[in-house]
Amino acid sequence: MTMKQNLIGGQWTEGVRTYQNTNPSDTRDVIGDYAVASREQALEAVAAAHAAFPAWSLSTPQQRFDILDAVGNEIITRKAELSDLLAREEGKTLPEAIGEVGRAAAIFKFFAGEALRPGGEVLPSVRPGVGVEITREPLGVIGLITPWNFPIAIPAWKIAPALAYGNTVVFKPAEVVPGSAWALADILHRAGLPAGAFNLVMGRGSEVGAVLLEDERIAGVSFTGSVGTGQRVAAACVGRGAKVQLEMGGKNPFVVLDDADLNVAVGAAINSGFFSTGQRCTASSRVIVTEGIHDRFVAAMIEKMKTLKVDDARKAGTDIGPVVDDRQLAQDLEYIAIGQKEGAKLHGGEALATNADGAPGFYLRPALFTETTPEMRINREEIFGPVVSIQRVKGYDEALALANDTPFGLASGIATTSLKHATHFKRHAQAGMVMVNLPTAGVDYHVPFGGRKGSSYGSREQGRYAAEFYTTVKTAYIQT
Ligand code: NAD
Repeated sequence: MTMKQNLIGGQWTEGVRTYQNTNPSDTRDVIGDYAVASREQALEAVAAAHAAFPAWSLSTPQQRFDILDAVGNEIITRKAELSDLLAREEGKTLPEAIGEVGRAAAIFKFFAGEALRPGGEVLPSVRPGVGVEITREPLGVIGLITPWNFPIAIPAWKIAPALAYGNTVVFKPAEVVPGSAWALADILHRAGLPAGAFNLVMGRGSEVGAVLLEDERIAGVSFTGSVGTGQRVAAACVGRGAKVQLEMGGKNPFVVLDDADLNVAVGAAINSGFFSTGQRCTASSRVIVTEGIHDRFVAAMIEKMKTLKVDDARKAGTDIGPVVDDRQLAQDLEYIAIGQKEGAKLHGGEALATNADGAPGFYLRPALFTETTPEMRINREEIFGPVVSIQRVKGYDEALALANDTPFGLASGIATTSLKHATHFKRHAQAGMVMVNLPTAGVDYHVPFGGRKGSSYGSREQGRYAAEFYTTVKTAYIQT
C-alpha cells in the first residue's frame, strides 16, 4: 500500500509519522496510510504559498476558471469512486456520500464561474475632476482548517473561493478523514495550478493547525469545527490582526405546531436528527412540539425509528451508517447516560458492537428522549450524534421562545401549515438559516451558509457572499 503524502510547494512530500485511515463500518478494514506533517513542514507550506501569491493573484480570470472547472469535471467523472472512499472513511451512507461529492463538484463549477465575474464599481467623486473605482483584491495566503463530518464538501467550499478570488492556500484537513482531502489535493495538483498555489498538510491541529494561526504570512484563516477550537482560532488570529471566519457547533431547534402535516413533520425530524448519523452541524437535536400534536408526533417518530436500518455505510438499504470513531461514540453514549440521569425517557440509543454481517464498527441506534425540560444538558449542549430530544410546549409563542433559548444560532426549522406562523418564525428565529416544512439539514450550494450567536463568527461562506472573506476592498481615486 503506497503512502499518501503531503503536497508542499508542488512536490509530494513524506511526513514525519504515519496515520492509518480505517473504516468505521468495519474497523478491520484499513483504507490507507497517510503522511503526517511536522510543524516545520507546515512552515514550508506557508513559505511556498507566500512565494506563489504574487503570480497567482495576478492570474487571469480565464486561467482560474479553466482550473476550477477542470477540478469540478474530474470530481463528476470520478463521483462513484470518490463517494465510495468518503462513505468508507467517514461512515455516512453511500447515497449521502454521492450527494456530498456532487455538491463538491458543483461548488468548484460555481466558483469557476465567479472567477469570470469579478465585481467593481465606478463612481463620480464628490470633488470635481476626480473619479473613484472600488475593486476587490485577493487577501493573500489563506489557512483552511476543516472538520471530519463533510470530508470533501467543506474543503471544496473553502478551497474553491480562495483560489477563484486569487488567494493561495494551505489546507489542513481533520485527522480522521485524510482520504477525501488527499484525493481532492491530487485533483487540484493535476489541474494545472502553479507550484505552491495550493498546499496540503495533513496532521494534528495542535501542531500543523497551530502554525496556520500563528504565522504572520497567513492573511486569513477560515475554520469549521467545534466551538472550543474555534474560540482558540479566533483569539490567535485576532491577536495578530489576521482575518478570521468561524463556522462552529449548533443545537438547532425544530418546532412542530398543532397544525403541521404529521408526515412532513416526522420526515423532516427523522432526516435532520438522525441521517448522516446526526453528525451534521445543521442537525436538529431539539424538537419542540405543541401539546395538541405531541403524543401523535412522538408515537409516529418511535414507529419510524424502528424501521431505520443501522448498518455498513456502503451497503444498499442502510439508512444510518456508523459513528465516525470511538471517541465520538463514547461522547454520544455519555450524553445518552446524562439524559437518563437527568430524568428524560429514552427510546432506542443502543450501541451495537457489530453490524448485521458481524463486522465490528461504531454502531449506534438512533436515540429519542421524551419528557425533557429546557435546562437539561441534552437540550443545551451539542452532542453531535443520532440523539434527539423532544420538548412539549403549550403553543407557538412558547415554542419560539424555547427555540431561541440557546447560545447557538446556526439553523432553525418549523413544521406548520399556518402562513402567519411560518412568516413570523422566519423573521423571529435567531438563526442564520431558517427552514419551513423542510429538514434543518440540507442546504443549497449557491447561497450563503452560516449562523449567528455562538455558531459563527465573521462573514458568511458560500455563494457570492464568500467574496466578503476571500477578498479585500480597494478604493482608488484618479484625476479625470
Ligand atoms: P474540531 O474542532 O475538533 O476540529 C476541527 C479542525 O480543527 C480539525 O482539522 C482539527 O485538527 C483542527 N484543530 C484542532 N485543534 C486545533 C488547534 N489548536 N489549532 C488549529 N487547529 C486545530 O471539530 P471536529 O470534531 O473535527 O468537527 C465537529 C464539529 O464541527 C462540531 O462541533 C460541528 O458542529 C462542527 N461543524 C460546524 C459546521 C458549520 O458550518 N457550522 C460544519 C461542520 C461541522
